[in-house]
Amino acid sequence: MPDTKALSEPQKAMIRLGLARDIDLALHLPLRYEDETRIVKLRDAREGDVAQIEATVTACEIAYRPRRQLLVTVDDGSDTCVLRFFSFYPSQQKALAVGTRVRLRGELKGGFLGWQMIHPSFKPAGGELAAALTPVYPTSATLPQAYLRKAVLGGLGRADLSDTFPPGVTEALRPLVWALREALAFLHQPAPDVAMATLEDRSHPAWQRLKAEELLAQQLSQLLSKRERADLRSPALRARPQGLHEQLLAALPFKLTAAQRRVGEEIARDLARNIPMHRLLQGDVGSGKTVVAALAAAIAIDAGWQGALMAPTEILAEQHFRKLIGWLEPLFAPRGLRVAWLTGSQKKKERTEMLALVASGEAALVVGTHAVIQEQVQFKNLGLAIIDEQHRFGVAQRLALRAKMKEAGQEPHLLMMSATPIPRTLAMSYYADLDVSTIDELPPGRTPVVTKLIADSRRDEVTERIRAQIAQGRQVYWVCPLIEESEALDLTNATATHEALSAALPGVMVGLLHSRMPAPEKKAVMSLFTGGQMSVLVSTTVIEVGVDVPNASLMVIEHAERFGLSQLHQLRGRVGRGAAASACILLYSAGDAGRLGETARARLKAMAETADGFEIARRDLEIRGPGEFLGARQSGAPLLRFADLAVDTHLLEWARELAPMMLDRHAQLAEKHIARWLGGKSEYLKA
Ligand code: ADP
Ligand code: MG
Repeated sequence: MPDTKALSEPQKAMIRLGLARDIDLALHLPLRYEDETRIVKLRDAREGDVAQIEATVTACEIAYRPRRQLLVTVDDGSDTCVLRFFSFYPSQQKALAVGTRVRLRGELKGGFLGWQMIHPSFKPAGGELAAALTPVYPTSATLPQAYLRKAVLGGLGRADLSDTFPPGVTEALRPLVWALREALAFLHQPAPDVAMATLEDRSHPAWQRLKAEELLAQQLSQLLSKRERADLRSPALRARPQGLHEQLLAALPFKLTAAQRRVGEEIARDLARNIPMHRLLQGDVGSGKTVVAALAAAIAIDAGWQGALMAPTEILAEQHFRKLIGWLEPLFAPRGLRVAWLTGSQKKKERTEMLALVASGEAALVVGTHAVIQEQVQFKNLGLAIIDEQHRFGVAQRLALRAKMKEAGQEPHLLMMSATPIPRTLAMSYYADLDVSTIDELPPGRTPVVTKLIADSRRDEVTERIRAQIAQGRQVYWVCPLIEESEALDLTNATATHEALSAALPGVMVGLLHSRMPAPEKKAVMSLFTGGQMSVLVSTTVIEVGVDVPNASLMVIEHAERFGLSQLHQLRGRVGRGAAASACILLYSAGDAGRLGETARARLKAMAETADGFEIARRDLEIRGPGEFLGARQSGAPLLRFADLAVDTHLLEWARELAPMMLDRHAQLAEKHIARWLGGKSEYLKA
């Protein structure tokens, strides 16, 4: 780390933007360009153009209404334009005196009253025109464009831009791809005659080169971490005949689906090797991932190793704990094995006991939240770590887990689970280092959930439906909106809904659950609901993942327009888990404008149209883009800055094919390429 005290504000800002090396600067590409290569006539301009004009000042005065401002009128011979300055110095007023000829740059706004520019930049007319388009870079408040431009050009001049592509590999992409040096020089200073549209949509050959470079770096680093993992050693874990695995299978109250059996075998094959497993188990909500995880844990435990299961929330962890205990404890008891439980809210005494169980190895299975990977936790011999709802964990946490596993000298196997299926392009890019198993079938006897969109103004009808469900002995979830800015508002809203429903449903137990409640209280509410005594559960999004109450048949989501698609799908998955016909009501509020926004509408429509998790994930990716989709993973992993998976699939496929060949035959080039693009960040990709 450089000594940041000695640095100027812009220098510090550059470091914060990750612009430390010359090559980082060279790869910092413009967001857009401004055209200062020509002067346009007002007559030819269009609304919204950022234009450069030359004109003569015809009026200059200070106006006081609606607020104090300098009002200047100019005429360029084709039309007139009004300039407004809300803050100005006397010197500027002087420079814009009537009769002066000025060169102006600014965004043109039209309207009844003719052209206007707010705070245009100006200088005396005449002077040279720029030879290239002026780049506008992504930057931050303390880093002025002009400073950054100079720094980028400096970096571009000094950086080593020699080609890292092995000879001949761009043949498949011709005639699209330029050399790196050529592409960068162009993108930082494009010639004025370039078709601006090809820069904006990044279809220009120079952009193609940069995207190909970036995708290749991503593929290489993931492949590399996969290969590095293959050099690590893990215990080979095999199920024994008449062992825990078989006993658990026999004890289950149901038969596994074909899909569960298949993924179970895939996992068992990985466990039996002495190379660490790095597998993602994906399956729609309710597809039965937990039991598959428990069976994998049984194999590890049977072989004499410990298993850990980590869930993102206490409620979820609790559910796993209860279920797993139910299934496993009767089998554990004769062997003298225990299940340990670790959460943040645990009492000191209980925690100390649990830590001792984990350290001695008496606890064969450890279930909990993030607490499982905290420093004080010492496993005796962790053989398999399972992370549920993996996308909700940060990269740093996953790295911590792996570090923990390494303490014992052997790498444990790692199984991640997710109900949000990864669309194909993401699986090929961000998750290229993962093996994926998919449960593509729901257990039999599930009834599809009917989804209805209902305007908030028809709340009363919803209360009626709730009453009808309760009369049939069913249970109901009511999820309150997520208010990003304020947890306190979340709470007010949930509390108000809770009161209103309690009043509307006399004699019915209506519970309230929100994220700020102390853990024991949450637990108490949850157990009343899972036990069936509580008919309605009003909650903020804490129930978002994994809760399993098969008797619940109605899910009401208030202000559904504020939720993301995957979140809605997860929430909907809380019902339809038993045999009863179930429904999900998406209450939406049209908002002040009287209508829903474009993306909110697209989300709600998708929800009503399909129940297929894969289709939902695909549409979610379309609506939100990969950044948000990846959620926690983005906190550390460098996102693709230039390539767009939706349009650059052919480049992605090219990079995927090239990467293994390049690592095998051009290892030095590969290393140089990764260092150039990822610098110190590649560690994160291994999480
Ligand atoms: P998810 O994949 O969303 O984590 P769960 O593991 O919570 O799903 O399983 C959902 C419900 O289905 C649980 O009640 C579980 O016991 C039950 N279940 C799992 N597998 C089967 C099966 N093969 N047949 C019947 N029920 C099953
Ligand atoms: Mg689950």
